[in-house]
Amino acid sequence: MKPDSVDLSILKTLIDDGRASMRQIAQRTGLSTPTVSARIARMRKAGLIRGFVPILSSSPLDRKAIALVTLKVPPPCAAAVANKLARLPEVEDAYVVAGPYVLLKLALESPQILQKFLADNASLGSDVELASTQVVTEIIKEGPVSLEATKLTIRLKCDYCDGDISSGRPFRVRVDKSDRYFCCKTCKRAYLEKYALRLSKLRKLARPALQS
Ligand SMILES: [Zn+2]
Repeated sequence: MKPDSVDLSILKTLIDDGRASMRQIAQRTGLSTPTVSARIARMRKAGLIRGFVPILSSSPLDRKAIALVTLKVPPPCAAAVANKLARLPEVEDAYVVAGPYVLLKLALESPQILQKFLADNASLGSDVELASTQVVTEIIKEGPVSLEATKLTIRLKCDYCDGDISSGRPFRVRVDKSDRYFCCKTCKRAYLEKYALRLSKLRKLARPALQS
């Protein structure tokens, strides 16, 4: 799906306050409540919004130790090993990286537990090898995905030239029941000229009552 500026304004509101009601979001974005709920439903269906969850405090005070563990894994079973480990409550993040290696971020009650954790779990397969372990000494940044970070995947594209609509308000044309966006006036005009016939047909279809 291609989120537009309306979706983005809803997302911004939700990121500020994930518990906002449909009505509150409507008020804050200047949209109608049905529009807000329809847009959110669409973004959930498209997988853009995966869910609404509380963000639990995870300060270093709560988790006594954070460790990064790298395991060398034979290629065919890297994902399987990572998946198995990901189910453990101590594993906060799990990645398969080139090598292949399985990279884990662990939250432990104490650094001393790391050895026990590794002894219990890191030898999942006979070929799994402990490549490195590092205990985190300072957290500079961690947290949920920000809208900034997702910009790359949800950038608005011009419906005529396919160029990025990076700044300012996009030029918009309502077609059927959705919107088309353009980077500039020229693209908007060119689109309207190119599809003039089709657009006028759509408009007639949309208002059958006026035809009789
Ligand atoms: Zn364009």
